[in-house]
Amino acid sequence: MPPTATLDDIKTYQKRVEKNEITPHDLPPCPVCNVESIFFKIHAYRERRFLVVIEALIQCVYCPLIRFKCPGCGTTRTYYPDFALPHKHYTRQSIMNHAGAYVESETSTYEQSTMSDNGLSVYPDSDKALAPSTIHRWVTTLGGFTNTCQKALSLIIQQNPVSSICRDLAGLNISNRKYRTQQRKTGLLGCLRLVIVEALFIETFKISIFTKLAINCGFS
Ligand SMILES: [Zn+2]
Repeated sequence: MPPTATLDDIKTYQKRVEKNEITPHDLPPCPVCNVESIFFKIHAYRERRFLVVIEALIQCVYCPLIRFKCPGCGTTRTYYPDFALPHKHYTRQSIMNHAGAYVESETSTYEQSTMSDNGLSVYPDSDKALAPSTIHRWVTTLGGFTNTCQKALSLIIQQNPVSSICRDLAGLNISNRKYRTQQRKTGLLGCLRLVIVEALFIETFKISIFTKLAINCGFS
């Protein structure tokens, strides 16, 4: 996915916010009292700073996230557009690009995965750059979306029962230079599976897993 597409995504989302088009319908029912999300009311707009890596430059974009309130119990939850992940300032696309580059390559290191095609990703007017430890954390986060990945996989197979995707996923491996514990291996494989399943999900349904499915699975 070209990184500039992320900026377009953000602009499109901002326009939808301005026109009041963001609805709570895509959210799951309230986990506390089971009220359907269509009854949720807008609770707050919070301006969030997003970081997008574009041609090795880390750019800041400000954009509101909407919190909806359940009328049954008063708890609130955030609607995440497809470029936003909970607790992350970098866009989901930047996170997937860098973490994906790490898990897809047999040899690359975390250090190398901080690089874009155009070099090390840095902040303009600053010496600060994307840290290898950040890529490590991103792989952990994406590798943890096992529920979401499984759901996406079953939707793909429902749509295309002869798909070879299950066989392909079962054959995946991670170089043993990349992990010391079984837990890390599982996380790395989870991240790699998510990257592959996302690509096939987009091909199959023309939307990202993160348009609707991930938020419905509670980013688990
Ligand atoms: Zn509730």
